[in-house]
Amino acid sequence: MSAILSIRKLVVNFETPRGLLSAVRDVSLEIEQGSSVGIVGESGSGKTVMSRAAMGLLSGSTVRREGTVMFDDKELTAMRADEVRDQFGTGMAMIFQDPMTALNPVRRIGSQLSEGPRVRLGMDKKAARARSIELLSLVRIPDPEAMLNKFPFQLSGGMRQRVMIAIALACKPKLLFADEPTTALDVTVQAQILQLLSDLRREMNMSMVLVTHDLGVVANHTDFVAVMYAGEIVEQAPTTELFSNMKMPYTEALLKSIPKIDSASGARMAVIEGRLPDPTDRPSGCGFAARCSYVQDKCRTEHPPLVDAGNGHLYRCWYPLGHTIGRK
Ligand code: SF4
Repeated sequence: MSAILSIRKLVVNFETPRGLLSAVRDVSLEIEQGSSVGIVGESGSGKTVMSRAAMGLLSGSTVRREGTVMFDDKELTAMRADEVRDQFGTGMAMIFQDPMTALNPVRRIGSQLSEGPRVRLGMDKKAARARSIELLSLVRIPDPEAMLNKFPFQLSGGMRQRVMIAIALACKPKLLFADEPTTALDVTVQAQILQLLSDLRREMNMSMVLVTHDLGVVANHTDFVAVMYAGEIVEQAPTTELFSNMKMPYTEALLKSIPKIDSASGARMAVIEGRLPDPTDRPSGCGFAARCSYVQDKCRTEHPPLVDAGNGHLYRCWYPLGHTIGRK
């Protein structure tokens, strides 16, 4: 299988009044054609900055970026902003947590949906309307013709997210980035939207990157998982391998923080004690040392390298789960 997206030694720093903020540190990742990859981590772990950089969306005088990103055999990192924009629609597309910020509140759904087919695929008004109805049916919206005349405020959160998915898929992209696509929705609607995304990905043979804080989401909807912490990938593996042979204490902590919807207090999130390290002052040892239940002296002074455990499984820990040798 060939890679649709190949990220090599990606580094992203921001110049700030407090000094250089290190957001992404030496990240390499391949997204295979037709696969679904989860990028998981807490807020501030670097997953969103990494994803934006991988889509060529980070620019500005304060951004310092190194490394290369290849999309569909083209080097995104060597392109001008207008050339990157040309990749959207038919190449890449994205959906975000809050569809209200992405949808134009004063334009009808039909007008927003038909824009991609008209501008990028050159369809006339009639063909674009037919394509819009087809797309609304694809995302399982009942009575799609009536939906064309509605405004975003007339829709529920789940319906708005379905419309956003329809807009993202309008030009049949090869790769869909979904950044926390269900976090703003209630649990039942979350499950429906995630299932819809999984079904559409398979039907369209599309690749998908699912960015989320919730390891439970990636367990059911991805083939491969990359766990990020303090700007680095700290564990990556095929999804079944990750859950059957977990190595990183941080991944284990994320697993324990999955919301328990059947708990007595309803849906809630257990938090991981402590905070992420200051991105302007990274520790010399393991970034998780101050929060890790398994920490040893070596962890505080020596930065753990990525270790290859075989089966596509890499992890970054001196004392991985299941190993007692060396632990005091
Ligand atoms: S290197 Fe040490 S502190 Fe870091 S995750 Fe592994 S055991 Fe914990």
